[in-house]
Amino acid sequence: MNADHRPSTPKVQRKGLLAFYASVWRPLGISPSLIRKRGLPLFEEATELVVADSGAGGREYQLTPIAAAAWRRMKAAAEEDGVDLQVVSAYRSVARQAELIGRRLAAGQSLDAVLSVLAPPGCSEHHTGRAVDIATGNVMPLEPEFEATPAFAWLMEHAGAHGFTLSFPRNNPYGYIYEPWHWCLSEAPA
Ligand SMILES: [Zn+2]
Repeated sequence: MNADHRPSTPKVQRKGLLAFYASVWRPLGISPSLIRKRGLPLFEEATELVVADSGAGGREYQLTPIAAAAWRRMKAAAEEDGVDLQVVSAYRSVARQAELIGRRLAAGQSLDAVLSVLAPPGCSEHHTGRAVDIATGNVMPLEPEFEATPAFAWLMEHAGAHGFTLSFPRNNPYGYIYEPWHWCLSEAPA
């Protein structure tokens, strides 16, 4: 396993981040101790983004310039092997993450249930602009069925060579569900 994508935020910076994110968590009922207990790392939002890909309806997906290039390389390599990779989620802001969580809470879901599928704002790898949720063919995106696709088998074999790591395998220590579709580019280029 490659652990390079784990952040090494300096302490002082982390303190400022924590204060900022705590103010985002408060209205959602998320306490800093919950974040600590789950051992969730804090991520900073990407500062430089480019359009990495576009999807159905012309929707554009943003990543950092390095991650965008890595994504395009990996997608092209998969295509050469006859494997279809589509991005269905890429960069996501902290504000958007808070909005998504707030919406589910408002619909009556418990905080625990929501936070097993959505990272608390500030804790999502999607903030970094290095993470992608990948879909393939006509398989319903963001569902466990992705594990049974040729795309997943291809990723398990080749994604590492392109610098991408499966962030949330089964029984991951962060308390997230198994996410075979979620891959993140390591901070240090592979
Ligand atoms: Zn994801």
